[in-house]
Amino acid sequence: MIRDIAVKILNSGYVCDSCLGRQFAKLLRGYSNQERGRIIRDFLAMEYEAKKIKADPANFEKGERCVVCEDILDNLPKFAEEILKKLKKMEFETFLVGVKMSDSLVMNEEALWEKMGMKYSEPIKSEINRELGKMIAEGAGKTADQEKPDILIIFDLEKRETEIFSNSLFVYGEYKKFARGLPQTKSPRYKQTVQDIIAKPFMKVTSASSHVLHALGREEKEARCLVWRPFILELKQPIKRKVDTERIKKEINMRKKIKVRGLRISDKKKVSLLKSKRPFKVYRVVVDFERKVDKAENVKKLVGVIKQRTPKRTLTSKPDKTKNKKVKSIKWKMINNKRYIFEIIAESGMYLKELVSGDSGRTSPSISKVLGNQAEVREFDLIGLED
Ligand SMILES: [Zn+2]
Repeated sequence: MIRDIAVKILNSGYVCDSCLGRQFAKLLRGYSNQERGRIIRDFLAMEYEAKKIKADPANFEKGERCVVCEDILDNLPKFAEEILKKLKKMEFETFLVGVKMSDSLVMNEEALWEKMGMKYSEPIKSEINRELGKMIAEGAGKTADQEKPDILIIFDLEKRETEIFSNSLFVYGEYKKFARGLPQTKSPRYKQTVQDIIAKPFMKVTSASSHVLHALGREEKEARCLVWRPFILELKQPIKRKVDTERIKKEINMRKKIKVRGLRISDKKKVSLLKSKRPFKVYRVVVDFERKVDKAENVKKLVGVIKQRTPKRTLTSKPDKTKNKKVKSIKWKMINNKRYIFEIIAESGMYLKELVSGDSGRTSPSISKVLGNQAEVREFDLIGLED
């Protein structure tokens, strides 16, 4: 039975050792497909010499081109060599090989299975994947990793080319911002942002193609951030991955506008964890009133639910919706009879300037409304984040 299948394969044209052995991969363990194929071929050659089987003698020798894999498998060491060369300039510890099949290889394999069945066979894709993985692991001295590889190697059998993708490098840290008018994330209208300042030294070291700042909560550019705000910086397509976070921290902290601490390598999962947190925010707000303030204690009426329609100032970029946001507490201190400092603890996503001004009634209640006195934010800082 096994012999009959093997003879049929042998008679379908030149089939390389790997492709012959692979059809019996589930039998005779402990050999590579190539070794197994060699054994079967030698056995069939003896059978042929003893005139037990009929076969084309040419198919016992190395032929023109394997009718199944089109010589891909014999050439795998050569492809591995090319990949290793490309990988030389990259820093990585783990990798994953992916194989993109070509139409003709799929057809060759299906045609073979149609004739001989596939009971003992292994798919060609998995052999290429495994063998290439082994060669790269040995050649580069690195480990294959299915879960979160640093590098993804895609071997395209149609083009006979490889593409190498470097997965993002994630760096966790916390920052404070001491300057007003500095946006948090990249903006075409601003030369400098928190993101740019933090990313710059990392970009230099990693030669990444671009960067994204994932931070705990969005920040108004006018507000200082006097509490340590957690962030994860994502560096896309990095060439180098070894970063001296201590040295980079010092470099960033030489700037006056922001300070960072706790820099460490992180991963993608922590980004969604960070993004899912919606802490209450503690603000210190300096407010100017139109007239003398009467009964400041009335601001306590703000504790509870605030209805906020999308502020007029953001209507060009955001849909007009009403959201309910909570104010947890509010404290006040008079500076003079028309200027007060408030400490407000509000739910994440609250538009603070509108909570003060009322935004022509779009936010209600507001400080303006409960005090019956038009109020405007003079300046404000984030001073706390409450989980
Ligand atoms: Zn082959």
